[in-house]
Order: sequence, then C-alpha cells, then structure tokens
Amino acid sequence: MSNIIDGKSVAEKVLAECGQEIEDLKNQGIIPGLAVVLVGDDPASKVYVGSKVRKCAELGLHSRKIELPSNATHQQVLDVVNELNADPKIHGILVQSPPPPQIDEDAIVRAIDPAKDVDGFHPENVAKLALEDSSGFVPCTPAGCMRLLKEAGVETSGAEAVVIGRSMIVGKPMALLLMSKEGNATVTVAHSRTKDLAEVCRRADIIVAAIGRPEFVTADMVKDGAAVIDVGINRVEDASAKRGYRLVGDVAYDEVAPKCSAITPVPGGVGPMTIAMLISNTIKAARQSQTS
Ligand code: NAP
Repeated sequence: MSNIIDGKSVAEKVLAECGQEIEDLKNQGIIPGLAVVLVGDDPASKVYVGSKVRKCAELGLHSRKIELPSNATHQQVLDVVNELNADPKIHGILVQSPPPPQIDEDAIVRAIDPAKDVDGFHPENVAKLALEDSSGFVPCTPAGCMRLLKEAGVETSGAEAVVIGRSMIVGKPMALLLMSKEGNATVTVAHSRTKDLAEVCRRADIIVAAIGRPEFVTADMVKDGAAVIDVGINRVEDASAKRGYRLVGDVAYDEVAPKCSAITPVPGGVGPMTIAMLISNTIKAARQSQTS
C-alpha cells in the first residue's frame, strides 16, 4: 500500500500557519498585499489568477488584480510593474505566465523589485537560492514539493533524487533545494537529452517529475519503495468527463502508485501547495519589508 500524499491537507496546514502570521502582522498594523498582473485572456491563466486573488480575500490579505488586454505593449506592463514596486501596500507582485508574445517576460521579471518577487524568479532570488540565503524567495511549486516530502516523512538526506525537467520554474530550483544543506540529497537532473532515462530513474529513492507530458513516468522506471512527486498538470481528452477532458500528471499513477512508499496524486497533490506557498512568500515579503 503506498502512502498517498494529500496535498490539499498539507496546503491547509500551511495556510493555517499563514493565518496566524497574518494576525500577528495585523496587530502590528501591517496587512500583507499581493498584486497579480494578468495580460491577455488565456483561460487557464484567468483561472489561476482568480484562485490566487480569492485565496487572498479568504485570508484577509490585501490584493490587487490588474488586467491588461492581450495587445498591451511591453512598456505598459513595465509601467504597471513600476507602479506596483512603488506601492507600499503591495508586498508581493506576480505577472502571470505566459504573457502574450510581444511581452519580454525575462525583462518583466527583472523589473520586479526582488524584495516583492514572491514567485522567486528574479535573478537576485535565484542567486539567493543557490547561495542558500534564506532572505530570498523560493519558487512556489518546488518549495511546495519540499514541504510535501517533509510532511510525508520522506527522508531526503542521503537519498538519490532524480528531478525530471530543468525549467527555472520547477526543475532547477527543485534540484537546488534537494541538494541544499537542508535537503542533503544526491541529485540528478534529467531532461530531454538524457540517455536511458528509465535506468537513471530506477536508481532514485525520490523522483520529481516536472515534464509536462501525460503519464510519462511508467512503473518500469520506478524502483520499489521510491517516493514520487508528480508536478505535471496535463489535460487529456476524455469524452466521459463533463468538460470533455480530465487532468493527469506526468506519472502513470495507477501503475506507479502500488510500487511507491509515497506518491502525490493529480489533482490534489502538488497543485494546492503552489498557491499556499505563494501566500507564505507574500507574508514573508510583508514581514521583511518592515526591516529593510
Ligand atoms: P517546461 O518549462 O516545459 O519544462 C519541461 C522540462 O521537461 C524540460 O526541461 C524538458 O527538457 C523536460 N522534458 C521534456 N520532454 C522530456 C523527455 N521526453 N524526457 C525527459 N525530459 C523531458 O515545463 P515546467 O514549467 O517545468 O512544467 C512542467 C510540468 O509541471 C507541466 O505539466 C506544468 O503544467 C506543471 N506545473 C505544475 C505546477 C503546479 O502548481 N502543480 C506549477 C508549474 C508547472 P529540455 O529542457 O531538454 O527541453
């Protein structure tokens, strides 16, 4: 029997901790504020932005949603970011990815004040993660994965970990966290050019799959007793589903789960953690804004 890691309940625990911190800050006259910038009308982005703003409202955080049309110019987005950088009520800023093609996303990320970069994508925060400087912001999804491993009692110290995917959003920061003095894992980062990926994965005590390919990790790639964190969110057509599709992860859950000591389901695994860690980063930004 594998241990199914319940991301929803761990996220609730993180948000309960956040609730306490929000109260403490309120007693000092500080209401943490998050600004979410949405450029264009990508339906998935709209859903993500909506749920972030809703969560802020539920927790009594100040939030601003700034929507720009899909033909907004790069300069317009930059102007919004600069305005938010200067707004003392806003402690965290995120520009929902992906923006339309005329927007230079890297330049926008670099324009965000690193002290308000709650996504943790600014080069200063990337450097702080590599340097293990705890004043930086860790990208929300890998931070959530680490918390899930901890809550599930998975020992990372000394473990062989394989991270599949090398994106700046998930794979690379995940590898840095696992290899840090807190994670202490021996980490392999695999990607599309990795030779004999199945063999590499079979060595792993911990697999983190962040690929973006439905049910890519199959049972033959997983050793008995491994812990598997499935970051993937993929839509696959399903005529029997109400919406005509269902969500699956990057791991073939039904065949992999019986082999695992612990595994995250999709949905209900990593997904709920991302927003919880975003709130947690926003509170940290508000707290740190008082001392900077
Ligand atoms: P990404 O930027 O597209 O990166 C995917 C990575 O997978 C790349 O490094 C790529 O290798 C690697 N890859 C692709 N095909 C491969 C193959 N056949 N064998 C080995 N590696 C392969 O994606 P991402 O932003 O990291 O996201 C990954 C998945 O996580 C997506 O499904 C996304 O929706 C999901 N996600 C979920 C959350 C959440 O909150 N749960 C948050 C973020 C992302 P190369 O570098 O060689 O191309």
